[in-house]
Parts: sequence; structure tokens; C-alpha cells
Amino acid sequence: MFRSLISRIILFNVLLLSLGVGIFTLFHLYREQAHLIGTTRNHANMLLGTIEKSIFNSMRLGNTAEVQAILETVGHGHRITGVRIFSPDGIIMTSANPSEIGRRADPRDYSLFAENITEGVFQADNGGRVLALVRPIVSDERCFRCHGNGRKVIGVLNMDFSLAEMYIQLRETSQLFVVSTFIILGFLAVGISVVMIRFLRRPLEKITQCMSQVEDGDLTVRMQPVQNDEIGQLMDGFNAMVGNLSRAQGELERYHYQQMERADRLASVGEMAAGLAHEIKNPLAGISGAISVLSDDYPEGDQRREIMLQIQSQIGRLDKTVNDLLYFGKPGQPEFAFADINDLLKQTLLFVAQHPESRDINRIDELTRDLPAVWIDLKQLQQVVLNIALNAVQAMTEGGMLTVVTDQVQRDSGTWVRIRISDTGPGIKPEVLAKIFTPFFTTKNQGTGLGLPICRQLMEHNGGSLEVESEVGKGAQFTLLLPVQDGAPGRCA
Ligand code: ADP
Repeated sequence: MFRSLISRIILFNVLLLSLGVGIFTLFHLYREQAHLIGTTRNHANMLLGTIEKSIFNSMRLGNTAEVQAILETVGHGHRITGVRIFSPDGIIMTSANPSEIGRRADPRDYSLFAENITEGVFQADNGGRVLALVRPIVSDERCFRCHGNGRKVIGVLNMDFSLAEMYIQLRETSQLFVVSTFIILGFLAVGISVVMIRFLRRPLEKITQCMSQVEDGDLTVRMQPVQNDEIGQLMDGFNAMVGNLSRAQGELERYHYQQMERADRLASVGEMAAGLAHEIKNPLAGISGAISVLSDDYPEGDQRREIMLQIQSQIGRLDKTVNDLLYFGKPGQPEFAFADINDLLKQTLLFVAQHPESRDINRIDELTRDLPAVWIDLKQLQQVVLNIALNAVQAMTEGGMLTVVTDQVQRDSGTWVRIRISDTGPGIKPEVLAKIFTPFFTTKNQGTGLGLPICRQLMEHNGGSLEVESEVGKGAQFTLLLPVQDGAPGRCA
């Protein structure tokens, strides 16, 4: 029960209310009691004052019998339990109960007079409580005739006033307060519970239920906010969130479907292209052979022989494109071995230097010594370096600087050998840069657009990566990373 937030809120509120209402009730009870006691005391004092005035005249005339009669008359009032006059020595002289006359006054009544106190509350013999009042009768010259002038106080008027009725009233008032407090608390507890359950628990249950439906993948679920309060706003927010989710899922599905379709189309096109490439390769070889035989028929310097050579060179280009296409579709199985990257670069860059387009190109090699050997397919890496370096050379049509740097770096908690090939060509525009690894993308008239996609594929087959950075007008830099195996043999000079 206490796991539920609602139960905790209800309990906490009821406790808090009980405390508040309890303190309030006690305070009022205390005030009510004080008021009741004060009223009773005033009432008793007024009564005693009236008796005092009534007996005064008779006493002045020395009519003791009339005093006795007055006391007997008032002494039978239902709340007066005794009224008497006792001497300063404590002997009862006149009393509403004649049997008391001549006896000693109750020590408690007498002690009030002796201690000069006017009132006190005592336990009566019958178990109830009484308010005892004493009022000394002070002598004046009118009293001297009977009592002489020797004493200042000639008697003490004493009245015992029952408090039973007051206590009954007090009890009834307390009971009324307690009962009404419990009724109020009950109403409040029920009210709070109803409000909590109606406006909080049910909507929260609804939200939880809808959330689990969403969790199960049903994005059509929506809530109907009843009130425009915080819960209503929460429901609106939930609806908006599920709506967005549903839209995003729809878009994702559409995109996924398009991708699948595209992949499917690409796969079929790839298969067709590979088939076509095979079909083209053989006739091309035939045509090339035939052209070469034909060109032998013409003497050196003959224009027709020149045309034959042109045809031959175009056939060579076609053959390369077909080979690239075939390789891209189905690269050969790599043959791995430990290799020295610096050696591999030196050999490959030698080819590049021989290339006719490298005439106005200078080269800087910054090959770090003692690089660890890397586990790669030598031929594949050569192909990558050759392609990137030739691209750089072809980009620097006005001549420039080709820089090749090797070093060792720590990345992703592993050691890598890094090759950076940079040129001082025109650089690559951002819109071109985004596409250079896409198959068949080329900006060259004679290009196939397969060089860089193949390079990236080969680097990935060798466990490495190929990235490019370029600033237009300043050149391009290709970075090749190759992992160093844990058990790589020695270091290469
Ligand atoms: P191709 O060389 O057949 O065009 P690649 O895939 O090798 O195919 O290159 C794709 C394109 O990338 C090139 O057409 C060229 O626009 C661009 N490119 C590659 N290397 C460089 C470079 N070093 N500087 C400028 N552009 C480059």
C-alpha cells in the first residue's frame, strides 16, 4: 500500500489534517472549559452575595431565627450543598442543615478562612466536586450591641456549591468536540481520497497503460485529456510525442524501403555490369589484336597507322575500365604478409615518378625510420598508393609538390602506421569531396570514378581506413591508417 504514491499522499494529508484539527480542537476545548469554570464561579459568588445581603438585616436586628430560616430556604437550592455561618473559632453557629449547628466546620472550609483565601475546590463526601466559598463577616458599630467590639471578624459565611453539573456540561462539550473532529477528519479523508483517485490515480493509470501500448509498438494510441490541468498537459505532451514518433517511424520505414529497393537495384545492376564486362573483355581483346595486325600493314609515319595507335590506346582505356569494374564488383582474395611500408612506398613512388604527367612534380618523402611491419596484402596496398599518388599528380596540372609522410600513431587504444599523401593542387570542392568515394563519380574526362572507391574497399579489407581532407586552392591530403598487429615482427629500418 505504501509503495503507491497516491496512498502516501492521502495518508500524509490525513495525518497532517488530524494534527491540525486536533490542535485546533484541544485549544477550543481548553477555552470552553475556562469559560464554563469562570461562569460557574461568577454564578456561585453572585449567589453568596445575595445570601449575604439577605441575612444582613436580620443579623443587624439580632434576629437569629430569621437568619436560620433564610439559610434553610436558600440552602435547598439544587446546586448549593451547604450554607452556614461559623464562628472565627470554627464552630458552626447557623446552617441550612440544623443538625450541623454546634459542630466544627469542615476543616477544608475552615482552612480557607484561616489562610485568608476566599474560595477553593474540594472533593465532596458523595464523590462530586464542590466549590467552597468563604466570606468573613466584619463587625461594625451596629454589631457591637450583640457581639461586643472586641473582635473584628464576628463570623464566617460559608457556602459549598456543587460543580457536578458543570463537569457534566464539560464532558458533554468535550465529547461533542471529539465526535465532530472525527466526523470532519472522516469527511476530509474521504474527500482527499476521492480527489486523488478521480483526478490523479485514474489518469496516471491510463497514461501507464498507453505507455506500455507504445512500448509494445502501437503508435496509434492517443489519450483524451479530460481536464486542462497538469495531467491534461502531460497527456497532450504524450500525444504529441507519440505523434512525432509515429511520423519518424513512418519516414524511417519509407527511407528503409527506398534503401532496400536501391540496394536491390544496385545488386542487379552490379551483376549485369559484371556480366557485361566479361562480354566486353573478350571482343575487346580480339579487336585489339586485329588492330595491332592491321597497323603493321602501314609504314611508320603513315597517318592511318597513327589512327590505328589511337584506336589501340582507347581500347586500352576501355579494357582498364572493364577491369576496374570487375575488380570493384568482386575483389580478389587478399594475400597477407608482414610488409615494410617505407619500402613499399619507395617502390611504388618510383612508378609514379616515371609517369609522363609527373614531369613538373617535385616530391618530398618524410619516411619515419623504425616503423613496425604491418600485416597487409602488398599488391593491394601498392594499388591504393599508386591510385592516390597518380590522382595527386593529375590534379597538379601546373606542376607542384607531392609530399609523402609516414609515422606511427596511437588511436582507439591501438597502434597504427599512418601514410599521408598530399599535393599542392587546386584542392577538392566540398560538394565534390562528399562524393569522391561514390562509385563512378569522376570529374575527369577520361576517368572511371572507380579508383577511390576501390582504394577505400581495399584499405578496409586490410583492416585499415582511408580519409581525405582538402582546402580549395591549397591541395588535398589523403590519410591511410593500417593497424599494427600485436605480434608484429621487429621494426623496419
Ligand atoms: P578517377 O580518377 O577515375 O576520376 P577516382 O575515384 O580516383 O576516379 O577519383 C574521383 C575524383 O576525385 C576525381 O575525378 C577527382 O575529381 C577527385 N580527386 C581525387 N584525388 C584528387 C586530388 N588529389 N586532388 C583533386 N581532386 C582529386
